Amino acid sequence: MPLSEFDLIQRYFNQPQDIALPEIVKGIGDDAALIQLNAKKMLAVTVDTLLAGVHFPANTDAADIAYKALAVNLSDLAAMGAEPKFFTLALTLPEVNADWLKKFSQGLFELAQEYNVALIGGDTTRGPVLSISIQAIGYVAVGKALMRSNAKVGDDIYVTGYLGEAALGLAIIQNKLTVEPATQQRWLQRLNRPSPRVAVGQALVGIAHAAIDISDGLLADLGHIVQQSQVGAEIWLDKIPLPSVTAIARTALLELALTAGDDYELCFTVSSDKAALLETVLSTLNIHYTKIGRIVAGAKVNCLDQHGHCIHFSTQGYQHFS
Ligand code: ADP
Ligand code: MG
Repeated sequence: MPLSEFDLIQRYFNQPQDIALPEIVKGIGDDAALIQLNAKKMLAVTVDTLLAGVHFPANTDAADIAYKALAVNLSDLAAMGAEPKFFTLALTLPEVNADWLKKFSQGLFELAQEYNVALIGGDTTRGPVLSISIQAIGYVAVGKALMRSNAKVGDDIYVTGYLGEAALGLAIIQNKLTVEPATQQRWLQRLNRPSPRVAVGQALVGIAHAAIDISDGLLADLGHIVQQSQVGAEIWLDKIPLPSVTAIARTALLELALTAGDDYELCFTVSSDKAALLETVLSTLNIHYTKIGRIVAGAKVNCLDQHGHCIHFSTQGYQHFS
């Protein structure tokens, strides 16, 4: 059997490294690495690649491609509670097309300005497939980052937004689904221009125990929190925030919400005695969020229906190489 994406990283790259660098607070394994700069401040560093034909169809609008490439990186910083500051851009282009590059750079700087992040370098090459790698760098206070490894038994589990909307946007561009124009527009926007939950991530500092952004699907991503925190989780299926649409069966929507990626919402855990504080803080940000379950003792994510029965899903989320 071929190695999965995560087994591959674990086997070949997450090795003991004989390098004494005490300033590495967190290396491989979270949404971003953490490097201590001084007594107060850490750098959060992340990189993500988008490839034509894998992460987006080759004919996607150039401004949207750039916007998304930066957004998914800001989302990883958001998942650490970090404030985005800088980014670098490594671009591989099959050809030079001035119109395309103009649109691409417009989409890129539109989002960069919105979050006040500066492009500070990169690399440009010619190659067979359009590929965009962005590395994003931000600041977070020492001891304050939201780690995947810090969920506690008894925590409530929350997600922002509605899950599965990006997957529905993909179904639309694949001509598998037609819905009324306003809904179609909204889902395409969620697919092509995800909103990194940067303000939410920073607001959760000091409130949430653990956080991750949902890039591969809720079950897979919550699975990383569960694994790294050495706890279990129960998810209440009737509480999952689903896209509002009547034309699609609830079970199909639920499966997308749990296992399709690309939503870039945050999943986070909060001790139940901080529920009122969470409400106070998030109500000022105009963000929809939902309590969907609880951290329990154990080692797995269990999905429970309204009768408390465990429901199994054949996949957990998107993985390269699977
Ligand atoms: P995310 O979905 O948040 O971007 P990933 O699931 O892609 O994170 O990666 C999981 C962890 O593995 C991250 O900490 C990431 O930095 C690390 N990682 C992924 N690929 C490699 C690699 N080739 N070498 C070293 N670390 C890697
Ligand atoms: Mg992530």
